Amino acid sequence: MVAPEAQSQQEELRNYVDGEWVDVNGDDGQTVLNPATGDSLGTVPFSDSDDVNATVERAQEAFEDWQSAPVEQRIQPLFRFKTLLEDHHEELAEQLVEEHGKTFGEAMGEIRRGIENVEVACGIPSMMQAGNLNHAAPQIDESANRESLGVFTAITPFNFPGMIPLWFLPYAVATGNSFILKPSEQAPLTAQYLFELIDEAGFPDGVVNLVHGSVATVNTLLEHPGITGASFVGSTPVAEQIYETAAENGKRVQAQGGAKNHAVVTESTDIEYAAEKVFSAACACSGERCLALDIAVVEEGVYDEFAEAVVEQAKNATVGYGLDDETTIGPLITAEHEQNVRNVMQTGIEEGAEVLHDGRDVDVDGYDGNFLGPVVFGDVTTDMVIQQEEIFGPVLGLVPVSDFDEAIETVNSTRFGNAASLFTDSGHKANRFKHEAEAGNLGVNVGTVAPMAFFHFGGRKASFFGDLHAQAEDMIEFYTDKTIYIERWPDQ
Ligand code: NAD
Repeated sequence: MVAPEAQSQQEELRNYVDGEWVDVNGDDGQTVLNPATGDSLGTVPFSDSDDVNATVERAQEAFEDWQSAPVEQRIQPLFRFKTLLEDHHEELAEQLVEEHGKTFGEAMGEIRRGIENVEVACGIPSMMQAGNLNHAAPQIDESANRESLGVFTAITPFNFPGMIPLWFLPYAVATGNSFILKPSEQAPLTAQYLFELIDEAGFPDGVVNLVHGSVATVNTLLEHPGITGASFVGSTPVAEQIYETAAENGKRVQAQGGAKNHAVVTESTDIEYAAEKVFSAACACSGERCLALDIAVVEEGVYDEFAEAVVEQAKNATVGYGLDDETTIGPLITAEHEQNVRNVMQTGIEEGAEVLHDGRDVDVDGYDGNFLGPVVFGDVTTDMVIQQEEIFGPVLGLVPVSDFDEAIETVNSTRFGNAASLFTDSGHKANRFKHEAEAGNLGVNVGTVAPMAFFHFGGRKASFFGDLHAQAEDMIEFYTDKTIYIERWPDQ
């Protein structure tokens, strides 16, 4: 056990507005449960339109000064925030395990990925520069200047409650905008903790704000004329709807959606290595990841060997509470989601997939949470629901294919395009994969295709609605507009 005493006190969550913790006006809310124990961790209130309006107003006022604060001044609170995140790394990870369920190691990795974005945003003085050209025309010098734009919001999902807010927040404020986070109501405590550190880091009042809430809160934000732009990460149907609503209301918008990711395993690869990476990529964070590789497309010559190797991986998995050292797969976020995953698994069986490993009857001693052991399906075909739809659970389906053409067709057979990975020692196949696989994050001999913070996070097809992605350079583009400045100084 990492920290048995890590159980949170009951939290009454509050918004963080204009540099202060404030009670929420809205009457609705919901209980946040520890998915491993079923214990209540607190209550998250849902902000109503009065809460949202007051927050946007404060953020607009803060923007007036913040946009023209010297850039060196703007990054100082981010440096302090980075140090505080390092100092509280373990406590944040424990909080994350308690409300989300992933393992402590996974939570530590998630927070690290978030910190990396703060680090990259500290480079804004260089990254925010635009181009210039002297003598662009006779007696004319011309330059492009980036301007901050106003108040931005980000609406984030439950599955990375520590990292995903940091895909946006550091870049928004470093570029001179003010920012409002609406975290997932299913896992809001990590965001609350992040804002305790934000408070300590000393951003000017109103520059960084937190509003808790649900659907109505999001819609008020998207329709508010004081909001310049919105970032969204979540499921595809909601992403599509957010994209439309924000665009209809004249806002910049980027909306990242759900996924169905494939690993391709060719005959010329190290099968043990591929099995270990693919199984981990499918089942880490209980499969609740937009980068989960939950379908392995396997060339027939190595299908049996690969199937045996992944089943071995599944047998070695330990399902349990994420704060227990030996746990490799934690619980699912809610009992309702667990039931949904079980239903899709049942559909897979009814559609004729072969169950090679069945973890559905898992029993976790001492805990009564939303536990589900890993399930490995064999003989999956492209038309099956388990091959087409996002499951978001610890499931891996194996699709046998006769050649590489069929493998690429299978990768491209769904409406999603978030990630795909190839396991091979063939440079020729890797080159084809790079050009033909329709996904925004591609890997070769890599399990989880997660870009570092200094690259954008890709996504195509129904996995992404918009033009500019999260992280790095794309965020600078999203949070600024470039004005052109043309000078002519004729000779006297
Ligand atoms: P979700 O779509 O249910 O919720 C995401 C956010 O949207 C939450 O803050 C929620 O309050 C809000 N929301 C939910 N329904 C809404 C509605 N009808 N109108 C307005 N707002 C609404 O997603 P989730 O279950 O929290 O997260 C899991 C999903 O996120 C998966 O599909 C996963 O693939 C996806 N995801 C994608 C990426 C990516 O980079 N593409 C990253 C992480 C997660």
